[in-house]
Amino acid sequence: MSKTCTLSETGELLKQANKIVIVSHVSPDGDTLGSSLALMHALRSLGKEVVMNVDDDIPAVYSFLPGIQEYRRFAAGESVEADLLVVIDASSADRAGNAMEAVNALAVLNIDHHKTNTHFADYLYLDADAAATAEIIYSLLLTMAVPLNIDMATCIYEGLYTDTGSFKYSNTTSNTLATAAALLKLGVNPSTISDNMEVKSRHQVEMLGEVLKTLTFLHDGRVAFVEIAPELYDHNIDTDTFVSYPRYIEGVEIALLFKQVEANLTRVSFRSKAIDVAKIALSFGGGGHQKAAGCSIYAPLKEAEKTVLQALEELFV
Ligand code: 5GP
Ligand code: MN
Repeated sequence: MSKTCTLSETGELLKQANKIVIVSHVSPDGDTLGSSLALMHALRSLGKEVVMNVDDDIPAVYSFLPGIQEYRRFAAGESVEADLLVVIDASSADRAGNAMEAVNALAVLNIDHHKTNTHFADYLYLDADAAATAEIIYSLLLTMAVPLNIDMATCIYEGLYTDTGSFKYSNTTSNTLATAAALLKLGVNPSTISDNMEVKSRHQVEMLGEVLKTLTFLHDGRVAFVEIAPELYDHNIDTDTFVSYPRYIEGVEIALLFKQVEANLTRVSFRSKAIDVAKIALSFGGGGHQKAAGCSIYAPLKEAEKTVLQALEELFV
């Protein structure tokens, strides 16, 4: 069980440490990367030694983020000494990848906004009302009295942009928009972020075409899913937004994307308009938010689909 911290206690933990490893979650998205990089820029401005880690490939779409080249992936068996290991935007230890084993830290601090958080770290700052972990990072840097520069502001904006679906999901609050407004005052140009985020490779659009052919409806159109079979899967192609196609179809209450990424590993993304999909993801060892969640099923595609779709049955009787 974690010790729950206030924002100023979180700031103190960071200030007291000299060597800090910042870990972003596997299957990295704009929030975990933007939040981690903003914190890196801030801590380096305070003279800290900071190592950036993610135990996964980083999709090319994030290459514009200032500092993204600083990420490294720890090799199997590698051992890294640190005063503090900071795990960003991850609700459970498995989301930190191999960092939990590789880093020999005096303490682990988790900064997160998932209501499914499992309290796995020594210290936890959790705000489930924050639209993005980036919203927490902004408040944290203010609390720590770190002067924000354009790099930090861009990275924080990226996190807000990603987790709110560009400021349109129901998690967007007046505080989210006030934070975004403050970032614009620091020089962030919204189109710099959206132009970079919306750009698609030809392969990605071609793949989307193939994935949409798999669109399947269940329960009178209240559930819709698409799938990525191994022969179509390419880890270099970012498919994070594909689940939004079934999601926006009239009458669909739960949308899913099934993606087989290894012989016995299928990643599942859940989206909903109201039903609590975090609960469903959690029952499979995953987690997330009420309307956006995910999990890994250790089975090939069709078997994973059967397992997850069976669990949805009882919601639609
Ligand atoms: P996505 O479907 O975009 O991968 O994830 C949607 C949300 O669910 C994100 O907030 C993400 O952090 C969370 N999530 C996705 N997969 C997992 C998982 O395997 N474990 C946990 N704990 N959370 C997940
Ligand atoms: Mn997030």
